[in-house]
Amino acid sequence: MQWVLLIILIGVFIYLITGNRRIYSWRCSHCDHIFEISWLINRISPRKNSHLKLLKCPACHRLSWAKQIKRVQL
Ligand SMILES: [Zn+2]
Repeated sequence: MQWVLLIILIGVFIYLITGNRRIYSWRCSHCDHIFEISWLINRISPRKNSHLKLLKCPACHRLSWAKQIKRVQL
């Protein structure tokens, strides 16, 4: 029965990689640059509430409470 566990583990792994990151983008509070983050950063970065997360902006390289915005497409 170990192969069943293996298939479940692979399924969870794919979900962790693909889940969430395609649904939301984040907007820098300093320069209004909109960017996406990887699932790993999404897991480890501190969160103030459901819409604010402490992220480093790829455009201005400053830490800010980025605002979560829902993507229109995809
Ligand atoms: Zn910025």
